[in-house]
Amino acid sequence: MTAGHGAPRFHIRTHGCQMNVHDSERLAGVLEEAGYEHTADADGADLVVFNTCAVRENADNKLYGQLGRLAPEKARRPGMQIAVGGCLAQKDRETVVRRAPWVDVVFGTHNTGSLPALLDRARHNGEAQVEILEALETFPSHLPARRDSSYSGWVSISVGCNNTCSFCIVPSLRGKEVDRRPGEILAEVEALVAEGVLEVTLLGQNVNAYGVSFDDRASGRTAFADLLRSCGHVQGLERVRFTSPHPRDFTSDVIAAMAETPNVCPQLHMPLQSGSDRVLRAMRRSYRARRYLDIVDDVRGALPDAALTTDIIVGFPGETEEDFAETLRVVEASRFSQAFTFQYSPRPGTPAATLPDQVPKAVVQDRYDRLVALQEGISLELNREQVGRELELIVSTGEGRKDTATRRMSGRARDGRLVHFTPVGPAVEGTVRPGDVVTVRATYGAPHHVVADGAVLSHRRTRAGDAHEAGQRPTTPRTTGLGLPALGPPAPEATASVPSAGCSAALQEVSS
Ligand code: SF4
Repeated sequence: MTAGHGAPRFHIRTHGCQMNVHDSERLAGVLEEAGYEHTADADGADLVVFNTCAVRENADNKLYGQLGRLAPEKARRPGMQIAVGGCLAQKDRETVVRRAPWVDVVFGTHNTGSLPALLDRARHNGEAQVEILEALETFPSHLPARRDSSYSGWVSISVGCNNTCSFCIVPSLRGKEVDRRPGEILAEVEALVAEGVLEVTLLGQNVNAYGVSFDDRASGRTAFADLLRSCGHVQGLERVRFTSPHPRDFTSDVIAAMAETPNVCPQLHMPLQSGSDRVLRAMRRSYRARRYLDIVDDVRGALPDAALTTDIIVGFPGETEEDFAETLRVVEASRFSQAFTFQYSPRPGTPAATLPDQVPKAVVQDRYDRLVALQEGISLELNREQVGRELELIVSTGEGRKDTATRRMSGRARDGRLVHFTPVGPAVEGTVRPGDVVTVRATYGAPHHVVADGAVLSHRRTRAGDAHEAGQRPTTPRTTGLGLPALGPPAPEATASVPSAGCSAALQEVSS
């Protein structure tokens, strides 16, 4: 199974949303448990895994292009294996091996844990293995994980979605919503904090629907709000974020929980998608613009400094200039600190793909440009308002492209704002490391970031910073629960070597 250098080395390429980024951490955990070793370098890897996304335009062309570029490498090294998983694999199934016969394994969103067994079978049988399940085999959070960050961790609270937004492929590929029990979620949060993690992001396609089958909505209390309050009791957990809430299910109880739980960050990412009621109806999003703005008002009333971010789709089929003007109106009123804006493109397999009145590309582009210009102006104003304020940052890695040239480092403020700062001054103890906590004073605001160029006001060295410096990542072992059977060998002992982002369309691509 190896190319002659000890443990076989794997490399994962992740397309898509925070769900996929976190699923890739699970894939890495499963592979390490099976004896593989991670490599950040795709060249020379014995196994390349693609964790795919079906949401993005041209997702399939991109995947098959990347697979095509690997074909000569695979021909040169017959022991090498290629696996394709995630949403596009769930959708395309056998098509993947028809279009790229050099692929060894195709697995879906419901059987992540089977990857090592499928790789073994492909090797043993000398033929591609395609295994796509229709229902969840093991809740992904029960699989071991190799975490990407020493200071910040994703924690899934649910998978799947019960909504039927007409532009979205998630329900057909990820299935109905399945919720984890609060005790399991909190145990994972505590395990991460025990390994030095300072911040968790609770992940679900629609976090406000969390626990609808076991909470007591009639009493006004929701399981998600209770979960936020419980996170407030985890000693050492400094920041709690979540993504994404759906406006339809947003309750005042959640806003109250955010306001009264000090470690819940003053930040809300709430997808708007459109400000036109007519378009929202066509999108099958069951709230209306007024309801959205009421939630914004309530959040601002309870958390005056909260930073709001959103997702917006421009050019949904049938969108008129008046509809678009409604979107601009809601954007102006909401004063988002950032908006992830997307031009609508038909996604095969979604109801909206076959709707009449697709908006011409040039019109979509024009509206998109106007929306981006409006939002950039608002973002700039809000970031300029930060100038002179003292901001607490968890120092991050990989977020400032120009950091090396400018000798700055980057971090995230409590409200999620990106801040570039100069890591100097008498308060700095030794060196500032990713995972440490600093306070700085903002000196300049740009549309997408804030700069703090004075001396660092305070610097707290953390265990997360120690772990980052030592190249250690938190790991969480295999667990069981939810009545779903766990697969594979028994849970290993928790690794002691290391003290040890939904519905959001914030798409990205990472290699790990
Ligand atoms: S857009 Fe979000 S809420 Fe709507 S179906 Fe997709 S995942 Fe569910």
